[in-house]
Amino acid sequence: MNVGVLALQGSVAEHMKMITSVNKKIDVTPVRTIDELSTVDGLIIPGGESTTLRILLDEFDLYTPVKARIEAGMPVWGTCAGLILLADSVENEKPYFGLLDVSVKRNAYGRQIDSFVAEGDFAGMYIGMVFIRAPKITRVGGGVEVLAEHDGTPVAVRQKNILATSFHPEMMPRDNRVHKYFINMIDSKV
Ligand code: GLN
Repeated sequence: MNVGVLALQGSVAEHMKMITSVNKKIDVTPVRTIDELSTVDGLIIPGGESTTLRILLDEFDLYTPVKARIEAGMPVWGTCAGLILLADSVENEKPYFGLLDVSVKRNAYGRQIDSFVAEGDFAGMYIGMVFIRAPKITRVGGGVEVLAEHDGTPVAVRQKNILATSFHPEMMPRDNRVHKYFINMIDSKV
């Protein structure tokens, strides 16, 4: 199995380490080109800054190929800024990929200084959740499963091959269970 991490900006190294920590035999590829994208069985779109990621995805000619792979069923996981890029509707902005039937509001948990760690259930596992200038999911479409909530708001969702979290599991280096969950999604496709 080869797991890609979109490597234009954001928490790339952290995600790569987490995948390797689940299983050393899994290949992990930083993805910056169409050729690299074509080698991976699943893709993580990391947290960072969604405005920057939009610009870089366009500049690296990755918008169309990434979108096509997701539409063809490749498992994809967007964390934080990655969730914003996948969402079908973004408050006061145009959506980017628009493939995940949720609405989000950027920076709705406050500024950098308001970052926090919460705990809660993710698909039946009790985990820590790190929120850093996170987007809030304000609407969830009918075909979208809510995997985790914080204070009654969805913070992890899944729509078929698309997983998205408003928090950062890669910032919890001793707990790789959400990464394992994503690997299982890929496993059932490969
Ligand atoms: N605030 C960022 C944005 O709106 C997301 C922050 C993050 O990915 N940690 O794109």
